[in-house]
Parts: sequence; C-alpha cells; structure tokens
Amino acid sequence: MIRVKSPREIERMRRAGRVAALALRAGGEAVRPGMTTAQVCKAVCRVIENHGAVPTFLNYRGFPGGCCVSVNEELIHGIPGNRKLREGDIVSIDAGATLDGYVGDTAATFPVGCISDQAARLIEVTEDCFWAAADKARRGARVSDISKELEGYSKRQGFEIVKQYTGHGVGKRLHEDPEIPNFWDGSRGARLIPGMTLAIEPMVNLGSEDVEILSDGWTVVTTDGQLSSHYEHTLLVTQDAPEFLTLLEG
Ligand code: MG
Repeated sequence: MIRVKSPREIERMRRAGRVAALALRAGGEAVRPGMTTAQVCKAVCRVIENHGAVPTFLNYRGFPGGCCVSVNEELIHGIPGNRKLREGDIVSIDAGATLDGYVGDTAATFPVGCISDQAARLIEVTEDCFWAAADKARRGARVSDISKELEGYSKRQGFEIVKQYTGHGVGKRLHEDPEIPNFWDGSRGARLIPGMTLAIEPMVNLGSEDVEILSDGWTVVTTDGQLSSHYEHTLLVTQDAPEFLTLLEG
C-alpha cells in the first residue's frame, strides 16, 4: 500500500531530506586520496548526528555501517572500513537520515582527484538518467513511466542500468511501496498522486549489467569488475513538477 503523506508529514520529510542532503555533501567533501571509506562515513554521520537525526542505514537489516560507501566496481552497500581512496577512483556514498520518525535517502558518486574521461562520463550519464526519469514523477503518471525512462535514457547513452535493485517509496520507513524498478518490467505500476514521496535511484555500469554480492553479505559489485555509478534523491509528487527533498539550494 502506498502511503500518501499529509502536509504535516511532508514538512517532516523536508527536514529529514535536508539533513540527508547536508550529510551527503559533507561525505563528498571528505572524498580525497588517502581517506578511508570509514573516514568518509564518519563525515556523513557527524552531520546527521549534529542535526539530532539518526543514520538510517546503521543496523538496517543488520547493515554494519552508518552509511554505504562503495568504491569503483562496488555499486551499492559498500561497508565503510579501512580501504583507502586512491587518485582516479570513484566513490558512491548513500546516506539516509531519520529525523522525527521520517527518512531522507540520497546518494551520489564522487571523483577521487582526477578521474578518467570514461568514469566522468559514467557519473554524468547516471545523474542525467535520474533527472530525466524524475521529471516523469508527476501527478497522473505511472510508476512504469519512471522505470521506462530510467532504462531508456541509459540505453540511449550506450550504458547498462542495473536491474536487480530498485527505487522505492520512502517515509516513516526507508523502504515503502511502491517499488520503482530501474527498467520496464511490463507492468503499468501505480498511478502517482500528490503527497507520495519516492526515492529514485539509477545504478549504471560501464560494462555489463551483471552484478553479484561479495562474501561479506552486503557489498554489491559488477561481475566484470568495471566501474558503476549511483545517483538518488527523495522527491515529493506535487500538483506540478516534483519537489526534491534531498536537493540543496545553490
Ligand atoms: Mg534508496
């Protein structure tokens, strides 16, 4: 069941979203050669805690970190640890903040120092793929309109989108209905109405779309070892264009 948020809930979602956005920005600013993924996570969590919020991912289904930090061929669910970032790496940070019982969820991929043109292009396509699909999240559209654009945009740019993981509704819980596939699975999906809050999150690979989970039980990597990029915002469906709850002004 899709929970449509009341104006009071939407106000709380805005506040949680802003904390998640500030945390992600702090994580991105901490990204440089020599930093460990644990240090990047610490920068994220410090902002969340300074705002009186809680890192949503910590202990979520047993996840052992305060946020996800995934390097190069790791696309999502990387566990923060001793891995040191190196010049030329790309690093995906996924940050969730729970404030007053509501969740903001956002992710982006950052360059470590100077990166290859190919890596920069991958990051750009993933972000543009998000924006193209998010623009479909309008009153009266279907979930499948978002999914079709996620798949279609990445294909048109010559990249493979990962099909195993999906976007989702978000609110009191990190993962609510509806599920938002990153490709069109043939179904129409629910009709969107104002007050729905959704997290759309394309993961785009440089090589094949195939992925697997490492023996740590969490880290998802590309099977061919090539780079992967991730981009996500929490948005509100309105009467008009979507409102991005995890996007900072300016
Ligand atoms: Mg998410």
